[in-house]
Amino acid sequence: MQDIREISTEELTNILESWGEKSFRIKQILEWLWQKQASSFDEMSNISRDLRTRLSEHFTFNTIKPDVTQRSSDGTFKIGFRLHDDHFIEGVLIPTEDRMTACVSSQVGCSLSCTFCATGYLKRKRNLKYYEIFDQVARLNDIAQKEYGKKLTNIVFMGMGEPLLNYSEVMKSIDFITSPNGLGMSPQRITVSTAGIAKMIRKMADEDVRFNLAISLHAATNTKRSTIMPINDSNPLEVLMEALQYFYSKTGNRITLEYCVINHVNDLLEDAEELIAFAKQVTCKVNLIEYNPIDMADYERSSGNRTERFAKHLEQNNIIVNLRRSRGKDIDAACGQLANKH
Ligand code: SF4
Repeated sequence: MQDIREISTEELTNILESWGEKSFRIKQILEWLWQKQASSFDEMSNISRDLRTRLSEHFTFNTIKPDVTQRSSDGTFKIGFRLHDDHFIEGVLIPTEDRMTACVSSQVGCSLSCTFCATGYLKRKRNLKYYEIFDQVARLNDIAQKEYGKKLTNIVFMGMGEPLLNYSEVMKSIDFITSPNGLGMSPQRITVSTAGIAKMIRKMADEDVRFNLAISLHAATNTKRSTIMPINDSNPLEVLMEALQYFYSKTGNRITLEYCVINHVNDLLEDAEELIAFAKQVTCKVNLIEYNPIDMADYERSSGNRTERFAKHLEQNNIIVNLRRSRGKDIDAACGQLANKH
């Protein structure tokens, strides 16, 4: 049976009209679906029992359900969500002093096979529907409020999967997350992170999106990047850079370059030089991320000294750098670790 959230407002309006329902019913139902995030028709207390029964005969709720919850010693939560068809994805809640960030998945598994990322060793099973992405955000928001008495402040699409290979569902989820009739969050608090699908970056720019864009870069020469991120073969750095410049020219949003610092793989000063040369071509900042080892690969975290030397070299060359300490390492919730133990 179809999830009621899968059909458009127009279709739902037509169906209700054909059942002889008054027009205000649609508003009530939409409120239950997106603002109150109902997960059953029984919860719709201001809808008549007859209509609820009729709705339940035609539609269902394919809600995602928190299945496994792990809490890190640093306060990070990792939630394993079970999908209606028994697939499994993960979302992470990262509390810091000034932010409450949800990191959400966009696909079950991933087809891009980045060698340093646990998800890259899983096959892509399917794309998430926009309401499944919305559900992740809503459930992580519930946990934030219950555990910390705060709502989410930021959302990053950096969980399992490549968001731009599930483009329309991701964009639709953002519409509902930002709509005053949904979660009402500001698009400026949302970051979509991509391994670098140039064509789709241009498409986003053409659609005048207002959220932020991050690139999983991790190496700034084609030879090196292709060895750790096979997507670079079809989207080489010069093509990616043109797309980034185009995105910036259309949106005015500074781009974030994400760079996991891996011991003796991409943490040499010559790597920093290459990164500087790349970053200077567009308005951007660099997030240097501590690498989190995974079971499937032999990569190691760069030492504190090497990472600091790398960061300093970037700064001396006028690149804006943030050094990101890993969060949730003890529960495999840190960057690149999702699905490490599944
Ligand atoms: S880093 Fe992102 S794109 Fe690459 S394999 Fe992992 S989830 Fe997929």
